[in-house]
Amino acid sequence: MVRGFSTNAIHAGQEPDPTTGAVITPLHLSSTFAQDGVGVTRAGDYEYARSANPTRTALQECLAALEGGRQARAFGSGMGASDVLLRVLVRPGDHLVIPHDAYGGTFRLVDKVLAPWGVEYTPVDLADIDALRAALRPTTRVVWCETPTNPLLGIADIAAVADVTRQAGARLVVDNTFASPYLQQPLALGADVVLHSTTKYIGGHSDAVGGALVTSDDELVEQLTFTQNAVGSVPGPFDNWLTLRGAKTLAVRMDRHCDNAERVAEMLVRHPAVARVLYPGLPDDPGHEVAAKQMRRFGGMVSIILAGGREAALRMCAATEVFTLAESLGGVESLIEHPGQMTHMSVAGSALEVPDSLVRLSVGIEDVEDLIEDLRTALDRATV
Ligand SMILES: *Cc1c(COP(=O)(O)O)cnc(C)c1O
Repeated sequence: MVRGFSTNAIHAGQEPDPTTGAVITPLHLSSTFAQDGVGVTRAGDYEYARSANPTRTALQECLAALEGGRQARAFGSGMGASDVLLRVLVRPGDHLVIPHDAYGGTFRLVDKVLAPWGVEYTPVDLADIDALRAALRPTTRVVWCETPTNPLLGIADIAAVADVTRQAGARLVVDNTFASPYLQQPLALGADVVLHSTTKYIGGHSDAVGGALVTSDDELVEQLTFTQNAVGSVPGPFDNWLTLRGAKTLAVRMDRHCDNAERVAEMLVRHPAVARVLYPGLPDDPGHEVAAKQMRRFGGMVSIILAGGREAALRMCAATEVFTLAESLGGVESLIEHPGQMTHMSVAGSALEVPDSLVRLSVGIEDVEDLIEDLRTALDRATV
């Protein structure tokens, strides 16, 4: 039976415990599992918790169902997932394409860790399919796509990028952290692998760091499983348990994030201190049409460029009271930050540098009137 998104979020991988009937997946802290004879494991084939753990398995089955993939693997962080994936997909001499406004940590991994080992890369505006075609080489193994992008909310047409990538014999990875599987399902649009920082919307409560990969390619899963176990890039069971608990309410949270972000964006568009609002839900946003085609709604992230430049941006970040000044995103609470000096410091001086008048908002699920009032007051204070 094909089940709906929230039914999967609440039940996939989460059958009541067969021994006790516990409705909620147990938090399995054991690092090792008894064997009935040398090499004879019990149900689930568990041996040692670096290789596999039942709480992690439950989360993996849930995430696979949410993305419509055959299998998922959970990691200790989004970057841990990215690292294992790239170790499997690229070798020295290979080439990859990354978004010209990729998440700062992804850029740092590629530029500072992989490039010194001999992996080549080209940053490309993936909204421009001709630019993508021009960047491809015979050695291109991976096109890495983020949509919407962090922090500029750029939109790439996943199906179009997938076509070009497939023709080039490369694989398409989509970082779906900003949209979450509730708003966008890249595998159905032709992506080979979906990546998440589950730290963000899937966990949703800013209390656990984690990452995940989802794919329908069983051979790739075998390679990922081997490399993950070999390098030890694994999550802790309590983080898995918290992430699974968060995932149950993903759909209702995302709808409220979207409701609130839409209202916040409408207010910001009319505010004289704001030079530009970056939000794909706005009808005149350059990514609106493609986003409307491939996303259920437009998400909870809104970025703005302040008319008063860097000083106004820094003052605004210091002036909010409901929005907390902090890195990260996707939790129930609203956050504000200055990407240039916080999350995206690692791209300073590179082709990926972000404007210093940019402020990024993770719009939470509080009462929207309070959020609007808080931002309006902070903008007024920032621009006197
Ligand atoms: C946060 C983030 C990551 C990295 O995930 P961590 O869990 O912080 O390691 C990757 N991609 C995007 C888009 C992110 O926002």
